[in-house]
Formats: sequence, structure tokens, C-alpha cells
Amino acid sequence: MAGPATLARYACDEARSRGRRHPEPPPAGHRGEYQRDRDRIVHSTAFRRLVYKTQVFVNHEGDLYRTRLTHSLEVAQIGRSACGALGLNESLCEAICLAHDLGHTPFGHAGQDALNECMRDHGGFEHNLQSLRVVDELEERYAEFPGLNLTFECREGILKHCSQKNAATLGDVGERFLRREQPSLEAQLANIADEVAYNNHDVDDGLRAGLVSTRELREVRLFARHHDAVEARYPGISERRLIHEVVRRMINEVVTDLIESTRARLEAAAPADVAAVRTHGSPLVGFGERIAAEHLEAKRFLRERVYRHFRVVRMTTKAQRVVRELFDAFFGDLRTLPDEHRDAARRLEAAHGPAGRARAVADYIAGMTDRYAIREHERLFDPRVS
Ligand code: MG
Repeated sequence: MAGPATLARYACDEARSRGRRHPEPPPAGHRGEYQRDRDRIVHSTAFRRLVYKTQVFVNHEGDLYRTRLTHSLEVAQIGRSACGALGLNESLCEAICLAHDLGHTPFGHAGQDALNECMRDHGGFEHNLQSLRVVDELEERYAEFPGLNLTFECREGILKHCSQKNAATLGDVGERFLRREQPSLEAQLANIADEVAYNNHDVDDGLRAGLVSTRELREVRLFARHHDAVEARYPGISERRLIHEVVRRMINEVVTDLIESTRARLEAAAPADVAAVRTHGSPLVGFGERIAAEHLEAKRFLRERVYRHFRVVRMTTKAQRVVRELFDAFFGDLRTLPDEHRDAARRLEAAHGPAGRARAVADYIAGMTDRYAIREHERLFDPRVS
């Protein structure tokens, strides 16, 4: 069963899945393999932690900003609706979208950069690889295997990018990087749905936080166009409704373009099956030229005016300091780690030397929520806190 009856010939079909690392009997009749992947992700510990992890705005700054959890839900919603329109496998795309940020550190990109720096001599830290590590190794939920034992197609989608060096160590999911092939269309779509989601919700969050004004945002053509249209159609509309109406229309235009441009590319390339998608010279899922340029413009605006706003930079430098100090304290003295993480560090050190020891520390820190990291930092550095 499972999956819509109308799957396109180039969609992933679970009947042709490359399967799971640890073979399992098929799921009970009410759901398919990719739906089982999705359900395992939703029930995972790492997924629940996303509610207290952030990308740009740190959790305690306000209750209305996106967290990684709400971000992941928005990504899944965008991915699913585009999949439906293109005859792709919605369950697979949804699973990839929900899992795509599982490996993120606390404090968003600031946390990832800091942890990567700490791990420089020990193989580095990359959130994509960490997401794969979470679903392959770190989740402890099943008696018969480590991790979530997801299908190959889901794991491949989670590993969005990867260096050749790392790819060589990853087995089946690393192969496509070595062969310079594309992932499935569902994986390509999940990747772009991520961009669509954050580009648009960061406009909303940036305005809400007062980091940018609607006047400044009018430098972004995509925003200005819909801002004009909404103001003309609803003169005197309240600021809040205006913003939401504009963002809603921006997402709609971008997703519509994504579907139409992808459909046109699929028609032109006419891939016979998933194998043809993989060996196609470039990704088939994508925007048309105009929206690609406008989307990039919005992304650049956000980078310059929101992510590099002094208020954000102050918060991110604090966050980086927390991550760095936690790493140095744990790595310098494993006895400061909670028992299970200390045991993991000793085990990995015995197997892989200092790089193993560092990896276990990075696993612990990467799993922390923003507020847990802050609390743990206090427990380590503030003598009044135990
Ligand atoms: Mg994301």
C-alpha cells in the first residue's frame, strides 16, 4: 500500500526502496515504509528538542519566533504541497523535511560555527552530517538497532551536502557525492522547501523583532511587489495583517513558481525513472530565473540586515562563547560530563583516540537545547549553581 496511486514515474516508490541498514519486516498494513520513517522521526528525542532550539533568535527572546520545530513543520508543509502537485512521494519528502534539522546545535548557525571551530582538529562539525548521525547512531529507542533505522532514501535526503572526504566514509549515502550525482526529487524538494520557509519566516520574525522595517524591506523586490498589492487592495489595513498577508503571498508566489518551473524542467528532461533523475547533470527541482534571482535578493537582504544586525550579533557571540567554553571544559576533563556521555567519550576515545573523545563531547553539546546549554554553562562556571 502506501503512497498516492498517482506517483509519477520519476518519484521514489517504496516498492523500489534500497531499504534499511538493518532489515526489518514491512510495517503493518496501515502505513508504508516512508510513513514509518516519518513516524519514527516524530517520536524521536531529537525531534522534541527542536522546540527549544533556534536558528536566529534565541529561545528566551520571545515566544512567537520560529523555533527549529515550527520551522521544520513549515518546511514539511511546503514540501508536501509541492510534492502533491508534482506527483512526487509526499510521505518521503515529509519525513526528510521533518528530519532535516535534527543535528543542529543549540543557538542556530552561531552554535554550529563555534562547534565546528572546536572540532577543527578532530574532523570538524557539520549539522547535516550530525542529522544523519542522530538518525543512524545516536537515538536510542529500539531494541534491535541503534538509531531510527530509516530507509536509504530518507537518509540520503537528510544528507543534503557533504565533502568528498566525508562522503568516502559514509557508505551508501556518500556514493552520490563521489559520483557527483543528484539525490531524489523528493530530497531536492525538501532542500528548497527549507530555503523557502526560512527566507519567508525570517522576514516575518525580523519585522516582529524590530530589526528591520517594512520601509527597508521594500528594497527586496519580492516583498515590495506584494506590499504594494496588499496596500492597494486593502487601504488602511493594520500593520500586523499587512505583514502576514504579504508574507503569505510571497510564499504562494515562490511555491507556485517552484512547482511550475520544476514541472517544465521535468517535461523537458523527461526522466524515465529515479535513476535518470540521479544521473541528470543538474538538479531538476528549482525556481525559474526571475524568482531564483528575487529569492537570492531576499536571502542577501536577510543576511546583511537581520542576521548581521548588532542585536543578533551580540546574542550570537554570547552563544558561541557558551558553546566554546562547554566544549573546552568537557574535553579538558571528561569527569565533568554526565555519566552516559563520559562513558561514550571513553568508549570513542579508546576506538578513535582524541578525535573520538572530541566527537562524544560534540554529540552531547549538539544535542542540547538553547536553554539547556545556558543552564549547563552556569552549572560549570557559576559556583553558586549546582
Ligand atoms: Mg532548516
